[in-house]
Amino acid sequence: MKLLEERIRTHGKIREGGVLKVDSFLNHQMDVKLFQEMGKEFLRLFGDCGVTKILTIEASGIGIACVTAQFFDCPVIFAKKNKTRNIAGDVYTSKVESFTHGKVYDIIVSKEFLHPEDRVLLIDDFLANGSALQGLINLVQDAGATLVGAGICVEKAFQPGGDLIRGMGVRVESLARIKAMSVEGGVEFC
Ligand code: 5GP
Repeated sequence: MKLLEERIRTHGKIREGGVLKVDSFLNHQMDVKLFQEMGKEFLRLFGDCGVTKILTIEASGIGIACVTAQFFDCPVIFAKKNKTRNIAGDVYTSKVESFTHGKVYDIIVSKEFLHPEDRVLLIDDFLANGSALQGLINLVQDAGATLVGAGICVEKAFQPGGDLIRGMGVRVESLARIKAMSVEGGVEFC
């Protein structure tokens, strides 16, 4: 998606360690008009899949998931990062390794909101090593729901997540795919 690529080129900030900061339009300040264009694009890609729920992960996926859900006319569930040790039996749970913080944490979704008859679209801001998506996929599978695919804003295609998740047979659609990036050379798209 040219609009997103252009914004990354002009406003993205590349940090050491393969991290792209997009705080001015995606991760901190949010450009809702841009989100709307991304939501429309996700609808174009997944609009005929019978999506009944959008599932994302807190916190940075929530904004884009909500705007996208308006186009799909369905609810959004965000997996919560669990802070307590005791996990009650009324939740689905999975583990995620944070790319940006390097920690492993549990994510949970209440069984009340994910059902076997649901057709679930995953939405997230970034795909890097694939741990966040893998965690969300586990929750969908545990619920016995149907996974329609994953819509990603920015895929860092030089990291293994995209190949890993596609290799599992999951449809992954990314609006911007970064082939390479460096502090000196900037961003190169696929
Ligand atoms: P993964 O689990 O695929 O390794 O990483 C995906 C998650 O890590 C996303 O939910 C996103 O919040 C965060 N993330 C991964 N790489 C980046 C990055 O380069 N920049 C930012 N801002 N977040 C990232």
